[in-house]
Amino acid sequence: MATGKINVSVDNIFPLIKKFLYSDHEIFLRELISNATDATLKLKHLTSIGEASVEYGNPIIEIKVDKEGKKIHIIDQGLGMTEDEVKKYINEVAFSGAEEFLDKYKDSAKDSGIIGHFGLGFYSAFMVASKVEIITKSFKDEPAVHWSCDGSPNFDLEPSDKTERGTEIVLHVADDSTEFLEDHRINELLSKYNKFMPVPIKFGTRTETLPKPEGAKEEDAAPTEEVDNIINNPTPAWTKQPADLETKDYQEFYRELYPMQFEEPLFHIHLNVDYPFHLTGILYFPRLSNDLNTQKDKIQLYQNQVYVTDNVEGIVPEFLMMLRGVVDSPDIPLNVSRSYLQADGAVKKISSYITRKVADKLSSLFKNNREDFEAKWNDIKIVIEYGMLSEDKFFEKADKFALYPTVDGKFYTFEELQEKLKANQTDKDGKLVILYASDKEAQHSYIEAAKAKDYQVLLLDSPIISHLMQKLETSKENISFTRVDADHIENLIKKDEEQISKLSDEEKETLKKELEETIANKSYTIQLEAMDSAASPFIITEPEFMRRMKEMQQTGGGGMFGMGNMPEM
Ligand code: ADP
Ligand code: MG
Repeated sequence: MATGKINVSVDNIFPLIKKFLYSDHEIFLRELISNATDATLKLKHLTSIGEASVEYGNPIIEIKVDKEGKKIHIIDQGLGMTEDEVKKYINEVAFSGAEEFLDKYKDSAKDSGIIGHFGLGFYSAFMVASKVEIITKSFKDEPAVHWSCDGSPNFDLEPSDKTERGTEIVLHVADDSTEFLEDHRINELLSKYNKFMPVPIKFGTRTETLPKPEGAKEEDAAPTEEVDNIINNPTPAWTKQPADLETKDYQEFYRELYPMQFEEPLFHIHLNVDYPFHLTGILYFPRLSNDLNTQKDKIQLYQNQVYVTDNVEGIVPEFLMMLRGVVDSPDIPLNVSRSYLQADGAVKKISSYITRKVADKLSSLFKNNREDFEAKWNDIKIVIEYGMLSEDKFFEKADKFALYPTVDGKFYTFEELQEKLKANQTDKDGKLVILYASDKEAQHSYIEAAKAKDYQVLLLDSPIISHLMQKLETSKENISFTRVDADHIENLIKKDEEQISKLSDEEKETLKKELEETIANKSYTIQLEAMDSAASPFIITEPEFMRRMKEMQQTGGGGMFGMGNMPEM
């Protein structure tokens, strides 16, 4: 038996580890399973290149909870460690790494958000355990070893009689962490962090019902069998090639990701890039007409199939955070603060790659099946309009496929719209006047009046549309948006001289006075005779700028939205 002192300068680093990682104790399991996975995949690699002459087989990782003994076991069949390797990787490298970490982040760690996404690797075991054992046998022909450490810098190292290749980590769960001895808690962690890890992970067994044997009677119970309960899918859709997947595979994966989502996504975008950074993933456009502020099912960030977080701020452009799906990249630095992340060159490239892929996908959907694109417009417009407002690169592309629906259910691109309005809807200054309604019911009579003059009326009712109109007015030449009930629509709608009001002058005067008193708001104008239909003997108008001002105030000021300042939806 050997004892030794772990090479750290502080007397006991574990209280520090506990303190700094307080909010995220649960990641210990993710870290240990990641190590077990690494050990397994390393062996796979060594056997495949002929450097390990052992049978790789079908290794799994097993998690066992011993509630009475207050222990958690993480067992792998990976490459294992020799005594020297334990000394090197566990005692030296690993512990000095922790010290370095603590030195570096002692002061900043608390509120920088670093810790939440920082894997401390092997030591994170000490967040929940008062004592940790490693029992390991290398694939090399060397005796097994047993390492144990109770949280002080002193460890024990002795021979072990373990015969199978691989490593078993035993956590003696500390009194303040007994929640992790509950099966349901472990299940929760496994499904959060390990659902798509590349090596099968077993947690207990489950009963599987087998088909009844030939000639079994109706009342006979079907036979059952206890099988390994494998909690993960080692080959999730995003790790495969798009060419090998069909729409139904993407839909199935969506349900795997979000078991509580019963609605099908509208479409997906498969991300796959190797250079200048590695990134894979699948993004889904869900139906977005519902309340977005309460969206629970967010885009998930993975690194090599290990779940990291669902806070993708800075990595995915803000306007796409309403989408769902998975982004997996080993190139995203996680041990840094969010503000650093946003300034990081690689991360910026990732974000603009994602924007470009989404724009290209939308563009091809538009070109290949316009009818379908139009049918989906209502559900996707908020993302597209928001993107056009916040990212100029996206605006350029989306300008070609963004649609402007009319009150009669036709859809025009901006270019088509300009073409359509050219002849009939220019004002005295030669400006194209784009008429629109925001509420078909409330503005019914105005719409009808405009249609009677052969004008096109758009139906624009998104919560951020006034911002987009402003942007279009400044980025395009000679156009203006005017709501059908705005006052200066009169400039465009030429009065039809032949129309004679059914009211006498006297009646008009009385009516006008009464209406003005009723409304009692000087910013509205009453126009009798402006309309000729019996259904609308008068109209009330409001200056366009007044109305837009009000709307902009409601949707959080003009121009761009800051982070976390999404328009009400
Ligand atoms: P990292 O995984 O980032 O290298 P860790 O602290 O998680 O850091 O692990 C330290 C080292 O210990 C690993 O690099 C590996 O060499 C060794 N190790 C940890 N767990 C295992 C295991 N289950 N099987 C084999 N080696 C392991
Ligand atoms: Mg690790």
